[in-house]
Amino acid sequence: MLRRGKGRSLSTDYEKEREHMVESQLARRGIKDKRVLEAMRQVPRHLFIPEDMRSLAYCDGPLPIGHGQTISQPYIVALMTELLELTGQEKVLEIGTGSGYQAAILSRLARQVYSLERHAALAQQAEKVLAQLGYDNVVVRVGNGTLGWPEHSPYEAIIITAAAPEVPQPLPDQLADGGRLVAPVGSQWSQVLVKVRRQSDLLIRERLTAVAFVPLVGEYGWKE
Ligand code: SAH
Repeated sequence: MLRRGKGRSLSTDYEKEREHMVESQLARRGIKDKRVLEAMRQVPRHLFIPEDMRSLAYCDGPLPIGHGQTISQPYIVALMTELLELTGQEKVLEIGTGSGYQAAILSRLARQVYSLERHAALAQQAEKVLAQLGYDNVVVRVGNGTLGWPEHSPYEAIIITAAAPEVPQPLPDQLADGGRLVAPVGSQWSQVLVKVRRQSDLLIRERLTAVAFVPLVGEYGWKE
C-alpha cells in the first residue's frame, strides 16, 4: 500500500499520459518494484513543472525548473528510488529538493522525508506543491546539503540528486546500519550512479549506470 494525499481531482489526460510513461519508460526498461511503479502512476508530475512547460511533463527526459536547475527524467527518478529499497517504514534524506517531485515520490514510499535545497525560491515552490497535494510527511529546508542533516540521522536511505566529485563524506556517516545511499558521482558533465550500503562499519559500494545531473554546489561539491 502507498500513502495517499488529499486526492485532488486530476485531469484524465494527464492520468493517461502518466500510465503511458509508467509502461513505456519505466516498466519496459526494467523498473520492477511495484510500489515504485504505483507511486510514479499516482504523483502528478505536471504540477512540479513550470506552467508553460506542463505539456512536456510526461516526456522521456529532464526539464528546466528555473535557476539553472532541472527535474530529472522520470526513468532516473524511478531507478534511483528503486535502488533505495523502500518498504514504507524509512526515514529518508534527499539532497537537492529542486521541484519537489523526487521528494513527492519518496513520500509515498517511506515514512518521513527530509529534503535540503540551497535555492530558497525552489524550496518554497516545492513546499507549496507538496502541501497542496497533502503530502505531509516531507520537510523541506533551505541549506547546504553536502553536510547532510545530522539532527534527524540515522537515515535508512539517502539520495543525492545533484552531481558530486565524490560522495560527500558527512553523508555515509548519517546512514543507519543496513542503510542505502544513491548518488551521481563524477565530473560536472557526466557521472556514474553510485550505491553505497552501510553494513556496521563497512561501506559497500556499487557503480551502476551513466547519468548527467546538475552540479552539487558547496563544500564536498563544486564551486558555484
Ligand atoms: N530532485 C529534484 C531535482 C534536483 S536538481 C527534483 O525532483 O526536481 C538538483 C538540485 O540540487 C537543484 O535544485 C540545486 O539547487 C540543488 N543543490 C545543488 N547543490 C546543493 C547543495 N549543496 N545543497 C542543497 N541543494 C543543492
